Amino acid sequence: MNTIQKIWKGSPNFWTGRKGYKPELVVIHIMDGTLFGTDAWFANPASQVSAHYGIGKSGEIHQYVKEEDAAWHAGRVDAPSSKLIKTNVNPNLYTIGIEHEGKPEDKWTDAMKQASALLIREICQRWQIPIDRNHIIGHYEIYSKKPNCPSHDKKIINELVALANGQTSNQQSTISSVVEEGIKKIEEGLAIIKQTLK
Ligand SMILES: [Zn+2]
Repeated sequence: MNTIQKIWKGSPNFWTGRKGYKPELVVIHIMDGTLFGTDAWFANPASQVSAHYGIGKSGEIHQYVKEEDAAWHAGRVDAPSSKLIKTNVNPNLYTIGIEHEGKPEDKWTDAMKQASALLIREICQRWQIPIDRNHIIGHYEIYSKKPNCPSHDKKIINELVALANGQTSNQQSTISSVVEEGIKKIEEGLAIIKQTLK
């Protein structure tokens, strides 16, 4: 399988291995800042935080921690709404974390969404994780005290799941049906012209 391009920016903030667990969920985060700032924050041992990946608005992907190891991105559990959160197990042990550049109120760029969807698909194929809304979750679904991670717009995660499954979004399929309709009309017009020229 061809893997998508990532830039390695190793962080010191992780546990080696996963204490017998394996990745079962992908957790979507917002950086609440820039990719550059996140690189520096995750490189700093004093921050005590990291994620496996960070994606910039340009679609550039940085990797901070190997998927085999546990990054420190979702260690706290508070009133989880996800049904797949285990009791008394640190979620960092069975999740892969992806950070996204920007603020919770930002509209995500297409490049960032596409890169995220490709990365999600690759991770899910590697670890046999179903690409659905139960397994691709927002940080807020583990830790209710971060209600806006990854976004004010909770539909963004549905959109990533649809893109990762290779479906076009509703908006895109509306556009393509409009285009198809236009092409049909042009073809009908050409047929009439051809008839007239005979
Ligand atoms: Zn988060």
